[in-house]
Amino acid sequence: MIPIARPTMGEPEAAAARRAILSGWTTQGPEVAAFEREFAHFVGAPHACAVSSCTAALHLALLVAGVRPGDEVITVSHSFIATANAVRYCVATPVFVDIDPHSYNIDPSLVAAAITPRTRAIVCVHQMGLPCDLTPLVELARQRGIPLIEDAACAIGSEIQWLGRWDKIGQPHADIACFSFHPRKLVSTGDGGMLTTRHADWDHELRLLRQHAMDVPDTQRHGSDRVIFERYPKLGFNYRMTDIQAAVGRVQLERLPELVVRRRLLAACYAELLGGMPGLVLPTEPRWAHTNWQSYCVRLPTHADQLAVMQAMLDQGVATRRGVMCCHREPAYRHLAQRHTLTHSEQAQDRCILLPLFAQMTAAEQQHVASALARACDRPASRWGESIGAAVLAGTYVGAPVGGHV
Ligand SMILES: *Cc1c(COP(=O)(O)O)cnc(C)c1O
Repeated sequence: MIPIARPTMGEPEAAAARRAILSGWTTQGPEVAAFEREFAHFVGAPHACAVSSCTAALHLALLVAGVRPGDEVITVSHSFIATANAVRYCVATPVFVDIDPHSYNIDPSLVAAAITPRTRAIVCVHQMGLPCDLTPLVELARQRGIPLIEDAACAIGSEIQWLGRWDKIGQPHADIACFSFHPRKLVSTGDGGMLTTRHADWDHELRLLRQHAMDVPDTQRHGSDRVIFERYPKLGFNYRMTDIQAAVGRVQLERLPELVVRRRLLAACYAELLGGMPGLVLPTEPRWAHTNWQSYCVRLPTHADQLAVMQAMLDQGVATRRGVMCCHREPAYRHLAQRHTLTHSEQAQDRCILLPLFAQMTAAEQQHVASALARACDRPASRWGESIGAAVLAGTYVGAPVGGHV
């Protein structure tokens, strides 16, 4: 059975968890602080604040951006449900706009028309690791004075061309970015999240809110030779990351550059293998973006039935997932009237499937996925480029251009 994903974790992570456990400090402490410093350095952010999940990160990002009950937040329906749920935790209303059918990311040209006097924030998503078109979004947000939040749950290690150089996602290019360390993402701590922001006052507020809004953190009280009483100036949350998680995250972060290189190679192999399949639409990168290939999403030929293809592949030992969900179609969102058409979002959910992609994947496994997909779509399998297959197995494959250009 070829799974959809498989985390890359082993003895170094286990040793790091052990170190944290035996240190006597297990919740948010020195390992979290070190992970934050290393993460900020990796993405090039002035501030990084660790939390318990990306969902928690999104909730806090919206709060520090000033989202209050009754406000509206413009975002996409075509995302994991946590994006929209976080808006509702603030008792605000998600206003969904459609995606671009090629990138599966928010269509920036639709955002201006969705702004109302109640719009308090915009949440864009770097879906499946591919950076969304930030330039027009950042410009619009600045012009209108609306905070822009990046849901970068999937995009650790992804890059965007910005003012002539390649930047990591999460600098952040807008106001604040949220990352996930769920096992489906490239860096995992079991569960966990990180916020990066360019605003020092927002970072300060995040640190308060994640720890019950306690004004003197426990780390400070433990280190003091004077008795200190803490105060709770506002309503906070327990959104802490543990030191056990952070210790694991630090090892994972060290592995990341190598993992991204590996995934780019695997994506290039898929492009070679699947390039000839009639009607199949492969994922592409625009000139100005490098995805980390968190997911490999293909649009099925129009004649193919999504469920039948997925079942036929499962029968051949290949796990797949359907295209990214649309929140507005879920029972939890049915009460919400849609103001804007979401045709491309719905089609992406219904016509796409995600193929297995994980670092340990072998050339033979990729070949099997490709032939299973071809068979499931009732078309002859495209030929596996023998030289590429051999080069991948030998570890000497230098990589073909990945996808095309949008
Ligand atoms: C995974 C994911 C989340 C949620 O992350 P958690 O860490 O599991 O809370 C949010 N948004 C997107 C786009 C995701 O893919």
